[in-house]
Amino acid sequence: MVKTVSIVKNFGLTASRKLHVVVLTGAGISIDSGVPIFRGRGSMGEIPEARRLASKAGPPWNTRETWEFYEWRRRLVSQCKPNAAHYTMVEMERYFENFHLITQNVDGLHIRAGSKGVLELHGNMWRGRCTRCGASVDLPETPLRSIPPYCECGNPLRPSVVQFGEPIDPNVLSKAFAASRRAELFFLIGTSGVVSPAAQMPLMALQNGAKVIEINPDPTVLTRYMTLSLRGKAAEVVPRFWSELHACKTPHAKQASLWQSRE
Ligand code: NAD
Ligand code: ZN
Repeated sequence: MVKTVSIVKNFGLTASRKLHVVVLTGAGISIDSGVPIFRGRGSMGEIPEARRLASKAGPPWNTRETWEFYEWRRRLVSQCKPNAAHYTMVEMERYFENFHLITQNVDGLHIRAGSKGVLELHGNMWRGRCTRCGASVDLPETPLRSIPPYCECGNPLRPSVVQFGEPIDPNVLSKAFAASRRAELFFLIGTSGVVSPAAQMPLMALQNGAKVIEINPDPTVLTRYMTLSLRGKAAEVVPRFWSELHACKTPHAKQASLWQSRE
């Protein structure tokens, strides 16, 4: 069903600087920058070279084969630029006094856009990690000078990326959970909501009475719990929604913005 909603009147949304705001982003926010997702149409799985390289990558993750796959992805992402949705996160971080950006993405585009305190649940492909001495090493250049890259201690590095089945850094996870529990306004952007524990975060916010807004061109398993679902591409919907919400500083603001909300 398509209905026209006013974000101010129907949902009582305002942009008070004091609100606790949390944003959780997934692969969908980077699709508009040209970064392919893992599954489905237009995904990496449909690119034969990516499939071939991915099939050789694996534990202990510090091998030449793993880095050949990561170098393929890093080269691709190096040719992509953050989009308007990434830049909107930078504006929101500057505006709200209590703002947390949580991402499942490993592409580093939020940081490249200028976001500061990003909680990267799954790590970052532009960093390496030493399994011997624990060092975290920035690896901003592609191509790398050596494959695999080495730690100063002489051990080969692994990508600082959480692989399927591996635990998330407990410090990052506890910060993300704590922020979600305190959230009053929570945005879920470009995530399918099937990968846990990220999928639990909007539900924690709901339990706290937060308004939770999903931005995604398609419905997800979480859609039915949402306060509001906005259908469309992140790079188009996020900046437009933000500029309208930003104009609504009080619950009775005159600028009632109208949206097509599809259920
Ligand atoms: P997902 O692939 O499961 O879901 C992507 C979601 O994005 C879908 O719901 C889809 O409808 C939506 N989408 C498609 N186009 C969009 C657009 N233009 N704007 C907004 N949304 C759009 O991704 P996920 O939920 O992030 O989970 C997959 C896992 O894969 C994550 O754990 C992540 O670490 C990893 N991953 C990361 C990247 C990256 O770093 N960019 C890329 C692929 C996968
Ligand atoms: Zn080391």
